[in-house]
Amino acid sequence: MSNHLFDLVRARMPAAQSPFIIHPDGKVLSYGDLDAVSARLAGVLVAAGVVPGDRVAVQVEKSANALMLYLACVRAGAVFLPLNAAYTLAELDYFIADAEPSLIVCDPSRQAGITAIARGAAVETLDADGAGSLMDKAAGMADRFTDVARGPDDLAAILYTSGTTGRSKGAMLSHDNLASNALTLVDFWRFDRTDVLLHALPIFHTHGLFVGTNVVLLAGASMLFLPKFDANEVMRLMPRATTMMGVPTFYVRLLDHAGLTREATAHMRLFVSGSAPLLADTHRDWRRRTGHAILERYGMTETNMNTSNPYEGDRVAGTVGPPLPGVAARITEPETGAMLPVGEIGMIEVKGPNVFKGYWRNPEKTASEFRPDGYFITGDLGKIDANGYVHIVGRGKDLIITGGYNVYPKEVESEIDALPGVVESAVIGLAHKDFGEAVTAVVVAAKGAALDEASVMEALDGRLARFKQPKRVFIVDDLPRNTMGKVQKNVLREMYAGAFG
Ligand code: AMP
Repeated sequence: MSNHLFDLVRARMPAAQSPFIIHPDGKVLSYGDLDAVSARLAGVLVAAGVVPGDRVAVQVEKSANALMLYLACVRAGAVFLPLNAAYTLAELDYFIADAEPSLIVCDPSRQAGITAIARGAAVETLDADGAGSLMDKAAGMADRFTDVARGPDDLAAILYTSGTTGRSKGAMLSHDNLASNALTLVDFWRFDRTDVLLHALPIFHTHGLFVGTNVVLLAGASMLFLPKFDANEVMRLMPRATTMMGVPTFYVRLLDHAGLTREATAHMRLFVSGSAPLLADTHRDWRRRTGHAILERYGMTETNMNTSNPYEGDRVAGTVGPPLPGVAARITEPETGAMLPVGEIGMIEVKGPNVFKGYWRNPEKTASEFRPDGYFITGDLGKIDANGYVHIVGRGKDLIITGGYNVYPKEVESEIDALPGVVESAVIGLAHKDFGEAVTAVVVAAKGAALDEASVMEALDGRLARFKQPKRVFIVDDLPRNTMGKVQKNVLREMYAGAFG
């Protein structure tokens, strides 16, 4: 029987003793271990009643076991549904109601809270060190598993992306969406078995989960697996790596590290950046300091990777490069979808085997995001220059990207507006050296209300994941509006432009 994605992993697997994951303390999980542990976990899924097509929601700390659970889902024909470890129970409640998982795997500290909102789903636990009921049960399972038959169009994962209208949407990703994109990237970025990727990204997001992990898997390579980004740790481990993938924040922070020198990076073959715009200054500073031109690429949860600067040839600062092989990109007039000439700014649209199958249980939204000829409307505004390089100039969708994480203003505004003494609010992203953008709230207080920056921040703590909480709150008398009554966020951005130095 064939399992589209896992068959490919298996076909490209190096010898069983070859390392897949290398932990910072030197402990190794080999490809043989990968095969055995993912088989045992697939056995646990089946025993828990998970049948092909079922969702398995996973909110755990980053660990090798969590990745094994992803592969177990693929092998068992289930749909892997990773959730940001920072999400509060109130936020999780929505995802569980929407996705209706048959199994939820969470940190032991959350077991009681999640069981209360599980809606009949089985709940197992897993912590960063492998403690919890999941691995206990896995220990009793066989280390061989007959992979469930899955075709190219069957779902492998659902990743939730926030929506501008406040509610998140589940992006349905098929076996071939993931497989085709990873194969393209392995070739395009020249990954092979000798590569060691420095992996310091989270694994609940497409960048660390699919770009990083799937590329390593399909190259038969290995990765140094850090629990989180830490500049000192990255510099300590760099000598053992050949490549790194990061968000721009990683590069900004490493530039502040005295150890970042030409010598310390001389052996590295590739630095990749994505998930948010890399400032042209950062690109130039990095090149000056290390001699390496960071390779910037562009993708999103719904599409995997769309464009990439070249491996050989000009990596142009401030651009995300031409479309990847097999991916088509075009620029259109956002309202009508009419094609725009070279160099004009409009909506970036993409088409290819990388593009997702639609939003989970949301056919209307899916239909509205695709053109009749199959192009996906990314929501990003940009242009394609005469050399075919894509430039992203802004986001049509009202997204804030802070430290590589997406924050949709609407969601934060709704929480603030619900606070006593608040009339209304506008949430914007402001330039921040470290985070790229910092979430900032401008709040209109009711007359006589005792509202200040500290009290708003305190009230949001525990209601929103920390990365979504505003870093500054400004109390004002009213918000600037245009004649149509829309809040002019561009005016607010100008007014508070220097707030973070
Ligand atoms: P996500 O779905 O979390 O991966 O976020 C996708 C969004 O991140 C895209 O729609 C872009 O707005 C933004 N993005 C990703 N890569 C880049 C990049 N290299 N430059 C600018 N924006 C980017």
